[in-house]
Amino acid sequence: VHHPVKNKRGETIASAVTNLDLHDIARAAKTYGVKGFYVITPLADQQALVEKIVAHWTEGYGGAYNPARKAALDLVRVRDSLAGAVDEIKGLHPCGVRVVATCAARRGEALRFEDFRRLLAENRCAYLLVFGTAWGLTEAFINAADFVLEPIRGGFAYNHLSVRSAASIILDRVLGEHP
Ligand code: SAM
Repeated sequence: VHHPVKNKRGETIASAVTNLDLHDIARAAKTYGVKGFYVITPLADQQALVEKIVAHWTEGYGGAYNPARKAALDLVRVRDSLAGAVDEIKGLHPCGVRVVATCAARRGEALRFEDFRRLLAENRCAYLLVFGTAWGLTEAFINAADFVLEPIRGGFAYNHLSVRSAASIILDRVLGEHP
């Protein structure tokens, strides 16, 4: 999600898309069997940028040169709002969609990784796992979500993971094979 996110001063902004996010998160999504990777931005120029990058790796030279990368970026869907993505997914599952927000801050009512893992295994609903950019998802967004996932904690005060790292760690926690 590139909007609504916070800037350094806590104001709500629309952040720019980072090319690396598209590749790394698409590859992690494909690795863990995620059905779709929604890139949310209301900015037309940013939507065009994402479409251009994805087209290169799915229809253009990149797709022929690197089929594995094509398979990952085929998951990418650009939408101008999360509500648009929810509406689209809702039709695929009889019991609808649950939005799961993520953030680095501890919150009382957080969904634990192992509980999320169990909900996913039950496979009764579609779950939209939402990551922020810039300085993170807004409070209003997080409060409106169906769940807030517990934060990844390294055990030290420093907790500033990139969205790419956070997505990979969480996907492994909730979908990965853990012998
Ligand atoms: N510009 C930054 C970058 O390069 O990725 C964007 C940072 S953005 C705030 C990081 C996002 O990753 C957060 O909005 C949240 O969704 C997720 N995230 C970061 N740290 C996390 C943590 N400790 N636990 C859970 N999610 C985390």
